[in-house]
Amino acid sequence: MKAEIIAVGTELLLGEVLNTNAQYLSSQCALLGIDVYHHVTVGDNHRRLESALQQARDRVDLVLVTGGIGPTADDITREAVASAWGRNLVVDPELLDSIKTYFCNRGVEMTHNNESQAMIPEGAFPLENSRGTAPGFYLADDVSAVACLPGPPGELRTMFFDVLVPLLRSRGHLPVSRLYSRDVLTAGIGESTVANILADIIEEQRDPTIGTYSNAGTVRLRLTTRAEDPEEAEKKLVPILEVILDRIGEFVYGYDDDSLAGSLGRELIEKGLTLSSAESCTGGLIARMLTDTPGSSEYFQGGVVPYSNEAKESLISVPKQLMIDHGAVSEEVARAMARGASEALGSDVAVAVTGVAGPGGGTEDKPVGTVCFGFSGPWGTDSERHFFSGDRSGVRRRSAVFALVGLRRRLAGLP
Ligand code: ATP
Repeated sequence: MKAEIIAVGTELLLGEVLNTNAQYLSSQCALLGIDVYHHVTVGDNHRRLESALQQARDRVDLVLVTGGIGPTADDITREAVASAWGRNLVVDPELLDSIKTYFCNRGVEMTHNNESQAMIPEGAFPLENSRGTAPGFYLADDVSAVACLPGPPGELRTMFFDVLVPLLRSRGHLPVSRLYSRDVLTAGIGESTVANILADIIEEQRDPTIGTYSNAGTVRLRLTTRAEDPEEAEKKLVPILEVILDRIGEFVYGYDDDSLAGSLGRELIEKGLTLSSAESCTGGLIARMLTDTPGSSEYFQGGVVPYSNEAKESLISVPKQLMIDHGAVSEEVARAMARGASEALGSDVAVAVTGVAGPGGGTEDKPVGTVCFGFSGPWGTDSERHFFSGDRSGVRRRSAVFALVGLRRRLAGLP
């Protein structure tokens, strides 16, 4: 089934509101096996909307319209759809009753404008809006079907998922097969290296397909297949998954919604170790990532943000002379920070970060993006120095990810 999404609203064209509805509808259609061929955005203009609708009606099987079904004068979707599908607008008595009840239950007086929301094209099927007043509708003929959904994202999602999808399913309009995907999450390996190592299977890809998406030091591999049920999908995904694990398994930290910090947490629990952090350039980002995982208090003792040299000295006992001799951004100081954090917070393992996140503060031998990491734990204390490109927030984010990856690698080497 081919579909097109038409978002209605001048605010979208002006850039005042991001068209998240199109993204939501597209992602849901992909899961349902509906192929979305076009995204169109039109302002609150009857003529242009009608023409967009006519074009969509001629080229796809299902047109999904979002926005412009409210009670105000700029809500033109119902009239434009009625014209494009050659129908009159008629009052749906049940819809009128339910709108009346909505207002009555809230003790609010219903205006004439609200009554207009009970008007839908002749032959259309109303779609209940359990989260607002503007009902949607679904209209189908021999050429094409159109579903009109509200603009507010919460209302749209509920109506799409709870009302439209069951309606399409009950009428046998949904494809039997749908897309299933599995995300393989990696860290500590670059996207181009992943692409090289998996070049043959990525190039061969037909079904399942493999997409790579990188984000601040992590790479997500999305395997997608079309199948009639989860069992069939599993059968198609597992062989390719095995090849991936065989080649880059050491960099895989989880699947789908897993987080890097969560996977590190599982390792710490398994080994019965506690963790603390001392973050200068990441300013608490590592602690935040760690504590985003529910239950992290089981292993995370806490973190300090010793930003100034004085704080490094007073909070985690970094010797002043060390900072004078090597500078605050140095592997020597990073090691002392990790040891100091571990002692101050009483943890088995500690990670420390000190770097130049920019935009200022760089020197010839320590340019912006230079970051030193200290790791302290049962393996002893060691350090690494790296360079990350990007702006301030990119450097900080990559550094935090790198710190977690470094910890995972060290824990993996423990018995
Ligand atoms: P209402 O009853 O609120 O008037 P409606 O169906 O007429 O509902 P619009 O008036 O077009 O919807 O949009 C209402 C609000 O919903 C917009 O101001 C905007 O904040 C949000 N919205 C509309 N379209 C989109 C979209 N495509 N993506 C994200 N948000 C949207």
